[in-house]
Amino acid sequence: MTNELPEIGSPARTKAILNRYRLVAKKSLGQNFLSDLNILRNIVAAGDVNDHDNVIEIGPGIGALTEQIAKRAHKVVAFEIDENLLPVLDETLMDYKNVKIINEDILKANLPAVVADEFEADRPLKLVANLPYYITTPILMGVLQSTVRFEAIVVMMQAEVAERLVAEPGTKAYGSLSVIMQYRAHVEIAFNVPRTAFIPQPNVDSAIIRLTPREVLPVNPYEDKALFSFVKGCFAHRRKSLWNNLQGIFGKQPEVRERIETVLNQTGISRQLRPERLTLLNFIELTNAFHNEGLM
Ligand code: SAM
Repeated sequence: MTNELPEIGSPARTKAILNRYRLVAKKSLGQNFLSDLNILRNIVAAGDVNDHDNVIEIGPGIGALTEQIAKRAHKVVAFEIDENLLPVLDETLMDYKNVKIINEDILKANLPAVVADEFEADRPLKLVANLPYYITTPILMGVLQSTVRFEAIVVMMQAEVAERLVAEPGTKAYGSLSVIMQYRAHVEIAFNVPRTAFIPQPNVDSAIIRLTPREVLPVNPYEDKALFSFVKGCFAHRRKSLWNNLQGIFGKQPEVRERIETVLNQTGISRQLRPERLTLLNFIELTNAFHNEGLM
């Protein structure tokens, strides 16, 4: 009987499942299976998942995290791209009637449609996942830009990427990813996870990030896309001054330089600053001012 077996995320059971199905973890799909029950439970606890909640998972693998979510949540819908894992998940999760696996690439999925079809609308919706690391950024950007409203997002990623997401202005890790993510959500590191907790072991350590999407912003940029491309442009040469980067974005013609100066005077932001010194609010102010000045 399945319910007499140790839980999926125990090292013994993980190894038994991999052997039984002769599974070789696919590097190209970022397959590193988390095999530590305490860590798995702590991930679910970081999302404060309870029986009112609907949960989306990305990349269930052999079902270790899915099982821990299913034990606490109302319902789990998990997207898995690798069809070879479908028979495995059918067996490992057969006791959990509140789990639905969708065999689809998360980057191609129509998330709002899936949420409307699979979940009752009046329950909190959360995202909990051990992400495939090769697509961490596109997944998070897609999720945070979609119309689906998540109450909490708890995801595991490479520790170095997690450091960039939470980085403050003036630090080495601060860059366009920090600004764009912090614009969309309150971001914090919940805890770190050593590489030894996975089978097979990856070459990097990991961290759990908790994102709480923002409902309102103190200042609104006139357009998100414009803000994002402006921020990326400002960090194109992070060793150079803001003044140099702005000329890189808008051009060096005397008339353009004059308008750049007007914006810098209006906003009171020094042209000598390096982009890594600018706060999220500075970037929003500059985006709006350059828009008003007709430069974007
Ligand atoms: N959740 C499991 C765990 O914690 O042990 C497995 C996590 S593993 C790091 C990432 C999973 O994401 C793999 O199962 C992989 O096949 C799946 N995956 C990779 N790319 C994907 C994509 N584009 N869409 C959906 N799933 C994907």
